[in-house]
Amino acid sequence: MAAKRVVFLGPPGAGKGTQAKRVVEALGLKHLSTGDVLREEVARGSALGLKAKGFMDRGELVPDQLIIDMVSGRIAGATGFLLDGFPRTVGQAEALEKITALDAVVTIDLSRDEVVRRLAARRVCRACGGIFNLTFNLNEGETACPACGGELYQRDDDTPAVIENRYDVYERSTAPLVAYYRERGLLRRVRGDVGTDGVFEEILRLLTA
Ligand code: AMP
Repeated sequence: MAAKRVVFLGPPGAGKGTQAKRVVEALGLKHLSTGDVLREEVARGSALGLKAKGFMDRGELVPDQLIIDMVSGRIAGATGFLLDGFPRTVGQAEALEKITALDAVVTIDLSRDEVVRRLAARRVCRACGGIFNLTFNLNEGETACPACGGELYQRDDDTPAVIENRYDVYERSTAPLVAYYRERGLLRRVRGDVGTDGVFEEILRLLTA
């Protein structure tokens, strides 16, 4: 039986978003990226977006309670889900445990150097949300999304200083969740540097084993 309640862990830039899009399609799960939801809230100028923006621009985490409230409403009633970018702290993981059980936690490993290199070269499509990279699948100066022709942009937090801070925040606040989920027998580790297809195949193998 394929896993139906899945969490993706891993540093920013490891490929969580890219892989999540493929995995939810393959396994019929609902995709919930807390970063995407927050960016939409910021773009709409909602009360949550206004509270979150400063933290996001600095590469800091948005306070746990705001995130927990945002997630719990969105996974209530879902039979299968993939959480991408949540939980990011032990407090969030403990809150999640009260909302739902999990089948598997996949952590995608990537070194700090590779994270910095990838994020600085990342571009995202405003229209379809597709994620591209100047080092793998985009040419320098390309401004149109190869998938849908939409406008490509660079995320506000994909700048060198903020990228470094986000990695520090990951190591300090989120990396402890690797041990947390290992102790609960849920952890599955994947290398993030074996190509998009290679990572995808390994994740599917682990989730359907
Ligand atoms: P991401 O798109 O996952 O890289 O998230 C972008 C930013 O949104 C992060 O740097 C945080 O500021 C915020 N964020 C996303 N998910 C969470 C979370 N689970 N807890 C706290 N902040 C979050």
